Amino acid sequence: MTTRDCVFCDIIGDPVHPAPIYRDDRVIVVKDINPKAPIHLLIIPNMHLGSLAYVGPGQVPIMGHMFVVAEEMARREGATLSGYRLTLNQGQDSGQEIEHLHLHLMAGRKLSAMG
Ligand code: AMP
Ligand code: ZN
Repeated sequence: MTTRDCVFCDIIGDPVHPAPIYRDDRVIVVKDINPKAPIHLLIIPNMHLGSLAYVGPGQVPIMGHMFVVAEEMARREGATLSGYRLTLNQGQDSGQEIEHLHLHLMAGRKLSAMG
């Protein structure tokens, strides 16, 4: 299911998106358009979920899959040993800009302490 006026649904619905890093029947992975680290990927569920606030017990499988794919992407990028950070922004105070659930994967440099 996709939703209109959602940039991530547009990407998911585009069969020839210019730079999908990975795609399966449940998620797509793209490079962040404004990277905050040398490696900055977004793991995005194909199903439109506005944020973690819309996730319940029924979404446990997709949430687990997002993390499994994130680790697989980190491994492919050579970041599993050096380390990486996964970030999930929820709501206004976190700075969430796009209201379609997504996981940030950042790696490739020493990441500063969280604040
Ligand atoms: P958030 O603040 O967690 O909602 O993060 C949204 C992220 O999506 C930001 O890091 C943006 O740089 C990124 N972004 C916005 N539009 C696109 C796009 N068309 N393709 C890839 N990344 C995007
Ligand atoms: Zn969407």
